[in-house]
Amino acid sequence: MRSPHYDILFEPVRIGPVTAKNRFYQVPHCNGMGHRAPSGMAAMRRVKAEGGWAVVCTEVCEIHPSADISPHAEARLWDDADIPALARAADGIHQFGALAGVELGHHGFRAQNRTSREIPMGPSSHTAVSYDPVQSRVMDKEDIRNLRRWHKAAALRAKRAGFDIIYVYAAHGLVTPMQFLSKRYNQRTDEYGGALENRVRLLRELIEETKDAVGDTCAVPVRICVDELIGPAGLCADGEGREVIEMLADLPDLWDLTVGDWSNDSRPSRFGEEGVHEEYVSFVKKVTGKPVVGNGRFTSPDTMVSQVRRGVLDFIGAARPSIADPFLPRKVEEGRPGEIRECIGCNICAAADNTYTPIRCTQNPTMGEEWRRGWHPEYIPERESDDQVLIIGAGPAGLECAVSLGKRGYDVMLAEASEELGGRSAREPRLPGLAIWGRVREYRVEQLNLLPNVQVYLASAMSAQDVLDTGANRIVIATGSHWRRDGVARYHRAPIANLDQSSIFTPDDVMDGKQIAGPVVVYDDDHYYMGGVIAEKLRLQGLDVTLVTPAPLASAWTVNTLEQTRIQRRLLEIGVKICTNEALVGFAGGEAAIACAFTGSTRSLPANAVVMVTARLSNDSLHADLLARTSEWADAGIKTVERIGDAVAPGTIAAATFSGHRYAREIDRAPWGDEVPFLRENAELGPWQSKLVNNGTS
Ligand code: ADP
Ligand code: SF4
Repeated sequence: MRSPHYDILFEPVRIGPVTAKNRFYQVPHCNGMGHRAPSGMAAMRRVKAEGGWAVVCTEVCEIHPSADISPHAEARLWDDADIPALARAADGIHQFGALAGVELGHHGFRAQNRTSREIPMGPSSHTAVSYDPVQSRVMDKEDIRNLRRWHKAAALRAKRAGFDIIYVYAAHGLVTPMQFLSKRYNQRTDEYGGALENRVRLLRELIEETKDAVGDTCAVPVRICVDELIGPAGLCADGEGREVIEMLADLPDLWDLTVGDWSNDSRPSRFGEEGVHEEYVSFVKKVTGKPVVGNGRFTSPDTMVSQVRRGVLDFIGAARPSIADPFLPRKVEEGRPGEIRECIGCNICAAADNTYTPIRCTQNPTMGEEWRRGWHPEYIPERESDDQVLIIGAGPAGLECAVSLGKRGYDVMLAEASEELGGRSAREPRLPGLAIWGRVREYRVEQLNLLPNVQVYLASAMSAQDVLDTGANRIVIATGSHWRRDGVARYHRAPIANLDQSSIFTPDDVMDGKQIAGPVVVYDDDHYYMGGVIAEKLRLQGLDVTLVTPAPLASAWTVNTLEQTRIQRRLLEIGVKICTNEALVGFAGGEAAIACAFTGSTRSLPANAVVMVTARLSNDSLHADLLARTSEWADAGIKTVERIGDAVAPGTIAAATFSGHRYAREIDRAPWGDEVPFLRENAELGPWQSKLVNNGTS
């Protein structure tokens, strides 16, 4: 069982009228399922409760159509029709003795109301944060009274749905109570604007009215931003952020603390350590007697103990660590903290919500698949055959496949060409800022060490003949991919004609330590992290670096992983020149030719080298060689040869672990037929408006 050192994490803590059984608290987090995939959301939350979290919350829950944030799929309690979906989540959470929390929210001027077409409203009139040509109106007194009534009605519905913890949400700049609080958003001159006593009025009213409505049996916490990270121009820990908490000190049943906007709250590991918020939140417990929860990508139980012992937090809040490992608390409780599947801070989970996609996770391939595919993060069915499996390639896909097949009880051979396990999850963590990503490899290597039925062969580059000679029945090719040298990606769909190949490099060359002479152009038509990371590495080596990209931003897709602003800022600060909306069109004689992505007009940059961060090519020669020898398979005992991960088509590390896991789950299934391979929920049809449709005639 657990070490006594961790006992403190398993103490019960009272939150108003309810009691949490331990200090593990899954704070609200979005998941791209929400009201559009309610059973998926419910099953995902239920698994967290099963994994030992004492409190499991939903994502933000829209209280009213006057603030809809579609197409984001969050929870909804617009009216009673929304209760059953949320009740399903609360029921699932209760099955394992956890408290169910719901984060009621009204998004004020941050709502674009793309579905409801209501005019967004907030404390003052603001333009939308997106580029939508939308502007909000100023809330008058009646609007404020309406908002308070809607919030109360939603709280009562949440109680009927079975929730134990019903939030007032005032964080991330996203919601109306915070927009009233912060002077950067609130320019009112009435009793809801001006002095902080006025700006806090709406939040105070909402807390009091929610407690009046549901506080007899439900806890009413406040999720608040203690520091907007813009100094005294906003809420800050040594200014108004602190004063708000002092004013309301013991009014809510719990304080849930956040810092900055979402991109800071879910700080990517490239830009923040575990526990990064401590300096901002540590004052709170000194000014309130109520319990305090805060987050900070906590994955180490020792850090958690330290937070509680030093009086920083009462509850260890987690979104991402609970996504990467829903069973984190139970692993600590059962004395196996070494088995925690640690979050790597890549924010692929956040990217899902930002792209209106059901949640996924690099580390936990079952995340978001609990209901629709019936996948559990810890249990996997026993093997259905005695087949021996040979996996070739020990990158994220091959490693995940080997671990999951090993857990099912299959005999597995894992052959890796190089001297180390991990593939890209061993190589890329050596690049600047990506060290934590090495946990993809570390977690799986540690799991392999617990599986005597998986044999690992390093320095074993396999040919088709080698494969045929092993006698394995199932062949899994996880040989990964390599970066292209010819410029093909999004802008160029065919190779660039005019390239001096002798000085063209790829990220693989950079990771292999090849010497590159500057000035160097990093041509990024990939748009995820690699272009920015390579530019950073070369610049830190002292080279003159220009990042050229046809996109309007450096590492443009990382907008979705909440990293883009920090990436571009870092590149500029270290002296990388950035040319956006331009594409490489030639490279010869010490010059790179680049063309405007709109007009095509060209100019040249001095360049002794170009690093192509474009598309990748699958390493599929082994697969092709084996296909050419299909007639020999039966004699060699081979039933199937399949590819997984980047060997099928290059993608994210999350796609590779998913692919490896899926193979392991489905190894004995019949090949994919015509059926939809997962459960889904279709919309319920509303009443038919026949008069309108038939031109008013019937
Ligand atoms: P993925 O992300 O799909 O797992 P990676 O590129 O990270 O892909 O990993 C592929 C792994 O396969 C690398 O570690 C590479 O050394 C290994 N590999 C490639 N070809 C062979 C081969 N013929 N035999 C054994 N291992 C191979
Ligand atoms: Fe952590 Fe990445 Fe998983 Fe999100 S996707 S929980 S950041 S490992």
